[in-house]
Amino acid sequence: MEIDEAREVRTTCPYCGVGCGVLAKIAADGEVTVRGDPDHPANFGRLCSKGSALAETIDLDGRLLHPEIDSRRAGWDEALDLVASTFSKTIAEHGPDAVAFYVSGQLLTEDYYLANKLMKGFIGSANIDTNSRLCMASSVAGHRRAFGSDTVPGNYEDLELADLIVLVGSNLAWCHPVLYQRIAAAREKRPGMKIVLVDPRRTMTADIADMHLAIAPDGDVALFAGLLAYLAEHDALDDAYIAAHTTGFAEALSAAAELDLAGMAAATGLSEDELDRFFGLFAATAKTVTVYSQGVNQSSSGTDKVNAIINCHLATGRIGRPGAGPFSVTGQPNAMGGREVGGMANMLAAHMEIENPQHRDRVQRFWNAPAVADKPGLKAVEMFRGVADGRIKALWIMATNPVDSMPDADAVKAAIKACPFVVVSDVLADTDTVRHAHVRLPATAWGEKDGTVTNSERRISRQRSFLAVSGEARPDWQIIAEVGKRMGFGAAFSYTSPSEIFAEHAALSGFENDGVRDFDIGAYADVDEETYEALAPFQWPAPNTLWHGTRFFANGSYYTPDGKARFIVIRPTAYNPINPGYPLVMNTGRVRDQWHTMTRTGKSPRLSQHMAEPFVEIHPVDAARFGIGDADIVSVSTAHGHALLRALVTARQRAGSVFVPMHWTDQFSARARIDALVAPITDPISGQPASKNVATRIERF
Ligand code: SF4
Repeated sequence: MEIDEAREVRTTCPYCGVGCGVLAKIAADGEVTVRGDPDHPANFGRLCSKGSALAETIDLDGRLLHPEIDSRRAGWDEALDLVASTFSKTIAEHGPDAVAFYVSGQLLTEDYYLANKLMKGFIGSANIDTNSRLCMASSVAGHRRAFGSDTVPGNYEDLELADLIVLVGSNLAWCHPVLYQRIAAAREKRPGMKIVLVDPRRTMTADIADMHLAIAPDGDVALFAGLLAYLAEHDALDDAYIAAHTTGFAEALSAAAELDLAGMAAATGLSEDELDRFFGLFAATAKTVTVYSQGVNQSSSGTDKVNAIINCHLATGRIGRPGAGPFSVTGQPNAMGGREVGGMANMLAAHMEIENPQHRDRVQRFWNAPAVADKPGLKAVEMFRGVADGRIKALWIMATNPVDSMPDADAVKAAIKACPFVVVSDVLADTDTVRHAHVRLPATAWGEKDGTVTNSERRISRQRSFLAVSGEARPDWQIIAEVGKRMGFGAAFSYTSPSEIFAEHAALSGFENDGVRDFDIGAYADVDEETYEALAPFQWPAPNTLWHGTRFFANGSYYTPDGKARFIVIRPTAYNPINPGYPLVMNTGRVRDQWHTMTRTGKSPRLSQHMAEPFVEIHPVDAARFGIGDADIVSVSTAHGHALLRALVTARQRAGSVFVPMHWTDQFSARARIDALVAPITDPISGQPASKNVATRIERF
């Protein structure tokens, strides 16, 4: 492509779900600089350390520049023919459910849309799942149970308008730093704003909090069930809202009230005084936003946690109003875009439901597809079990590194190694996953690719190219379309640009919709190349809203058959995996300056200075109990694997549990693949792995 060296290109950061706008520029000597886009409504010019270092991560070092078959260089035609013919043959011999795609919240919406269309509409299986399953599947399930749709009710402005922000299982300061900065700036203007952090660890986010509740692992359901009972007891309910806009309150309250204060204290690990103070603050503050992230979602009771939170907001009518609502923040840059196109094994495109025959019929007619999958496919953990036991015989992995990032990662690695046919599309030539691929397809990287992403507040922004494409790399959408054509579905995959795909995606969202489904960007169905190129960030459902946030449910009308939100009956269940052999709980998470398996951020020396090596945080009491000193090298073991890590002894850690970052791989540090230690236990509803509560042992090495 032609590069205008004098022009700054408006694009978005490829890391977290805040979705910050970035201005990227190439100087005459080829040097790339980035700065925050002052006009982007997510960040207004701010960038965090990762976003600021983007220019340091775009080089050709380690790039996959040509297609490869069995480690030899191949041409595109040969590679694509092999992928298409092997998938077709596998389907012909073993049926459509013998193949699978494992995709990523790093894909752009257009890529995601086509992968989903090919698998669900033309192959006829729903075996497409995503690493977003590891990120926010419990929120999706919780939203659908309560609202009848996967709708995020509020927006970022609500965080600035709230009088109380409750952060649950969210280290916003490190994991969504610009959102944290926005809250900190709002609090500076309005010192009366209160912030409560609910997290087993005293993270950096606690530094801004008025109250830190160091909750026991997975104590959140008990906490919010207790809150619901407290609200009822203390006359803090919005009875009119409950009566007019909800169903199931009495049953939900009855279940919530089963725990008395002492039982709640035992289940949450919090004192009765702490519980009382938090409950009192929540009850007294009408403008409350509850923000939750992986500490809620990555749990064997993740969906129940989400609904326990939503129950409290419905009971107080604090939803769909400025400065009030439950608010899930997504980890990945395009987890939301993936949800919009149905890029998960249990969803259809445009927020339609795979179990609903009318929805399937609608999607099939719209796509003119031979057969739309009629049952959910395998969710991530189950998908790799399917690879291991031979149900899946051909697997295509796009833009993700499951050999390092899936729970029980050694078992996933063994499954991929034994799979008869593995295709990987990636920007890198040698990740732990790419290494095991039979066919490697070079994909364009951030800066080279073009499309859209959706952030945590439903804002769709363009990601634009400003770099020439490296080697023979191709955009993911083009690779998928080429395989679709070669499988005999040419007419449905004859796109020439991402704008055509976006227009089709928008048209499907509006197709026979008329307000019956939440996701509708049908106004963009006739977008042309020029309009797409100039597309300003907008927040669905309202087009051209720019920074003025939109809210769902302002009128109390939901997407359930009766239009009412559903209270969910939830009973706190204790999940405590520890035993004498593994007496501690391992909690996994992120650090400020690294992203996922470090394939990009690991390139920046500046980012590596913050936390230079993998570590385990341990409370001084536990350190003394196991004879561990600060900075010792320790062995951290679970029933699934072990790692060698540097001990950081700190009272910020909750006694009885340890924290380990998930980023390091063997490429960066020997024996530090943390997800190899994580048990493949999942939430029974969402299928999201429980990566924050794993029985562990720690010993001095
Ligand atoms: Fe990128 Fe997230 Fe940082 Fe914004 S907050 S610059 S989206 S990593």
